[in-house]
Amino acid sequence: MEEIMELIRHWVLLYCICAIIVCAIWGTVIALIAIHRGYEDQQTKWFWMGAFFGVIALAVIIGLPRRIKAAETPEPLREEPKGLSKGTWKCPCGTVNAGYISTCQCGRRKLDVLAEQRKAEWGE
Ligand SMILES: [Zn+2]
Repeated sequence: MEEIMELIRHWVLLYCICAIIVCAIWGTVIALIAIHRGYEDQQTKWFWMGAFFGVIALAVIIGLPRRIKAAETPEPLREEPKGLSKGTWKCPCGTVNAGYISTCQCGRRKLDVLAEQRKAEWGE
């Protein structure tokens, strides 16, 4: 009987150690995911969430929207394709004019150029 109790005690101890290790791994993984998703300031909270709730914490952190700082937004996303920023117009002479310029240096007017381009697009 004494031997059996000793064996059980050993298994309980081993089980507790394994549980603590698994919890620590979960906590670390969840904290790393939280940091990766932009929640650096909440990494301690997410460590404990991961340690206690495991898969549930993983589902919650993945479900949360990514936090992206405005400064990290890639520059090309703010511009229109072909490198033309919003409002600029390209004259047939090859000059790219800013939106506020109404007459190109070659003498063509912005309104005429845009009207011609629209016609060309419609195939007239
Ligand atoms: Zn021009």
